Amino acid sequence: MTKLKIALQKSGRLSDKSAELLREAGIHFPNDGSKLRTEASNFPLEIYLLRDDDIPQYVADGVADVGIVGLNVVAEKDKNLKVAERLGFGKCRLSIAVPKNEPFSGIADLNGKRIATSYSRIVSRYLKEQGISAEIHEISGSVEIAPGIGLADAICDLVSTGSTLLTNGLREVVTVMHSEAVLVARPDLSREKAELLDKLVFRLQAVRKARNHKYILLNAPNERIPEIARVLPGMKSPTILPLATEGWSSLHSVVEEDTFWEVIEQLKALGAQGILVVPIEKMIV
Ligand code: ATP
Ligand code: MG
Repeated sequence: MTKLKIALQKSGRLSDKSAELLREAGIHFPNDGSKLRTEASNFPLEIYLLRDDDIPQYVADGVADVGIVGLNVVAEKDKNLKVAERLGFGKCRLSIAVPKNEPFSGIADLNGKRIATSYSRIVSRYLKEQGISAEIHEISGSVEIAPGIGLADAICDLVSTGSTLLTNGLREVVTVMHSEAVLVARPDLSREKAELLDKLVFRLQAVRKARNHKYILLNAPNERIPEIARVLPGMKSPTILPLATEGWSSLHSVVEEDTFWEVIEQLKALGAQGILVVPIEKMIV
């Protein structure tokens, strides 16, 4: 039987969330971090646990068919891969930072400067687009200390909260790219493997949609239903059930996490009572 081979980060910022996403998609596999290769028991999937930097190469070479890795790594390695799905975790940005007391009035200030980074390909490409000529120093780790030890005038590194930059006396001045974990695939998968990939993507989408939505139940006086239904569009329209109390109904619908609090305030203002909000496990639209 054909199996899809997936590469995941063995240990690091993406490991737990990658495994959790697969498990929420109903794919079970042993939780033994010491193994480099394992197999799902209920989906035709072989799992390879690797360093994130190696994942694009392994997928491009066909050792694995697909992989979960940061878009930043995909862009840096620049292999012939296609992004099958954005996964919404591991969000960060690749930014240029300078010593915090250094004046900076715009990207042109980087002309002739030395920039330390682990992302030399992305940074060169970016500077070229911007018409800047700077010297790039490729270093593999602890990039943020480079200005302090006189190795560089600026750095380009991954930032999520910015606290690492701050503790190293740096300030973020330019965002080069936004990143998140993505599912990448080889573009030339066999038909059987492409079908398995579609199945996997379908499941991952159902999990992600469910994570971004809540199921909401509330009671409302019947005369308020049309207005409330406008606030609660639901998947098609809300479900309306009569309550035993004369003149009242129960409305059920789905709301997006992003607009959630706004919607609740509007519902309260429109006379909704007994509002219940429950998580959704899977959502197929
Ligand atoms: P490995 O040992 O697998 O090579 P690593 O040390 O290179 O791991 P991690 O630090 O685990 O990598 O980061 C993996 C990915 O997590 C990054 O490539 C990036 O996409 C994402 N990420 C999210 N937030 C951050 C952050 N603040 N700093 C670094 N990476 C982040
Ligand atoms: Mg790495």
